[in-house]
Amino acid sequence: MTTAPEKPDSATIANLLKQKLSTNSQILLTAAELAPYQLNCEGATAQAKLVVRIGTIRDIAAVLELASAHQTTKVPFSVHPISTGRNWGYASARANEPNAVILDLSRLNNISCDDETLGIFTVEPGVTQQDLRDYLNQKKLKFMVPVTGAGPSCSILGNALERGYGITPYTDHFAAVNSIRGLLADGTAFRSAVAELDKSGNDFIDKTYKYGLGPYLDGLWTQSNLAVVTEISLRLKAEPEAFSAFYLQFASEHQFEQAQQLVFTILQKLEGVVGSVNIMDQRRVTAMMAPNPNGPAAHQVMTDQQVVTLAEDYDIPAWTIAGTLYGQKSVVKAAKAEVKRFAAGQCSKMIFSDSWLINIGRKVMQLLPSGLLRKQRKMLSSLDGGIEIMRGYPNQIALPLAYWRNPAIQPAKERALNPAADGCGLLWYAPLVPMRSEAMRRFIGHVRAVCPKYGIEPMITFTSLKHDMVDSTIPIVFNLADPAAVTQAHACLEELVSAGLTQGWVPYRLNLAQQANLLEPGTSFWQISSKIKQALDPDNIISPGRYQPRPLSAKVQLPEA
Ligand SMILES: Cc1cc2nc3c(=O)[nH]c(=O)nc-3n(C[C@H](O)[C@H](O)[C@H](O)COP(=O)(O)OP(=O)(O)OC[C@H]3O[C@@H](n4cnc5c(N)ncnc54)[C@H](O)[C@@H]3O)c2cc1C
Repeated sequence: MTTAPEKPDSATIANLLKQKLSTNSQILLTAAELAPYQLNCEGATAQAKLVVRIGTIRDIAAVLELASAHQTTKVPFSVHPISTGRNWGYASARANEPNAVILDLSRLNNISCDDETLGIFTVEPGVTQQDLRDYLNQKKLKFMVPVTGAGPSCSILGNALERGYGITPYTDHFAAVNSIRGLLADGTAFRSAVAELDKSGNDFIDKTYKYGLGPYLDGLWTQSNLAVVTEISLRLKAEPEAFSAFYLQFASEHQFEQAQQLVFTILQKLEGVVGSVNIMDQRRVTAMMAPNPNGPAAHQVMTDQQVVTLAEDYDIPAWTIAGTLYGQKSVVKAAKAEVKRFAAGQCSKMIFSDSWLINIGRKVMQLLPSGLLRKQRKMLSSLDGGIEIMRGYPNQIALPLAYWRNPAIQPAKERALNPAADGCGLLWYAPLVPMRSEAMRRFIGHVRAVCPKYGIEPMITFTSLKHDMVDSTIPIVFNLADPAAVTQAHACLEELVSAGLTQGWVPYRLNLAQQANLLEPGTSFWQISSKIKQALDPDNIISPGRYQPRPLSAKVQLPEA
């Protein structure tokens, strides 16, 4: 493929595909059909040329066979599989290589329950958080969906392949995946050595044991371009008997170090009972609760005075810790007592979701006319939305953040939100930061110094995955309809990343431009990775450029500053 001098046109590829595919799959070629695959939050001028909406796994193999037969057909093309294509802020539905044929796997949405007592399930790429929730509800199976802030319409499998994470107890979504099946570029189907040795005929043990036998290969299929994954088997967390979300508020900016130390203590001492814990700053919580005071069209950071006013109005402290306790009633009760003990005398307010005060608040709101106490109602509904997510029930509560600078569309919760289709501008800066208060404080200074230079609201969240590990997901929200804002947003991310790398703050996940520009082909890691690619996909058929460094000549041009 790399030697092909010219790209064949889409109609030629479509004609060849038509002869190979079953009637279950659909070829999309018209501008209207391609539009959903081009709209993106990242501000890229994407050009999807051809999409195959796959109806059966057999048809994936057929597409790969045709792509591999390019020596014979003289029609070289690459393919880019997506599950639901909602990788908003990183890629949306786009391929790294603009001419790639997109394989939309969203219609492959089978779910099977491998063991309803042990909680092992197998899902295909198109299974969304909501599909899995509906399935569990319908079968009255008491398990939690590994939800994320991206909401109900996103793929379980796609998120796990990106090594995404959420806030339920099985926070690291790839960690809960025990087995992966798929196809290599030449159409070879793969499964683990355990599955191959198992003569029982049901493959069950493979679905419960992550590491298989021999070299561990499953990691190769994540954040890579080595296979088209057709199913994953994963472990779901059983719904706990008891649950309590805690919110610890710190009134003063100077109390960050105290908040950080408290999170560390809670995570270390209550491991197994506590889920992941977030620390959010005032601007981040304000953007979740209040309308943008400058209006969504303005490429303008809130003034300190605006933040103070909104924070007073909505009772938002300088720092908020949000975490969850899961377990048997007696265990959660004891853990709650411990959280109270650790936090005593440190925070300005301590709220537990199952407290009598919150329960009374809910009852009062039900009795009052809907127009009264609007802000309190909004705060309570945000709290309840957050609690649903923490319990493994997907919802759209986190999505309005993407609309903070969208002057065209309001994120009405009554309809299915899609930030890419709705023209929201969003990029993520998602670096890993050491769980040390000094490093985290320096990181806060970094974000607060860089973002405003580019008119970007500095909104800080630290998500602690383990007591020794923090990821910070900084949303760079901008008005996608304003070309200057798009340029500023990209320049902002560029500086955040490049200055951050000098401090050791390396992102856990990259967008398409970063995959092209940041990864060095000459380094030993990427050389090894390239040898693996060469062995498994010598013609570079699957997702060229995805987590695959490019030569200098092929670096991606960012919007001009
Ligand atoms: C407001 C907001 C909040 C968010 N919160 C979170 C969060 O809490 N956690 C989080 O992780 N993300 C979050 N995201 C980011 C993102 O939207 C999600 O990670 C989303 O789940 C990814 O999209 P998807 O599930 O449709 O996967 P896809 O876009 O389908 O897949 C992701 C990538 O994986 C590869 N891929 C997909 N399927 C296959 C396959 N079958 N075979 C081979 N390769 C494949 C493709 O390269 C694709 O680009 C958030 C986004 C927004 C806007």
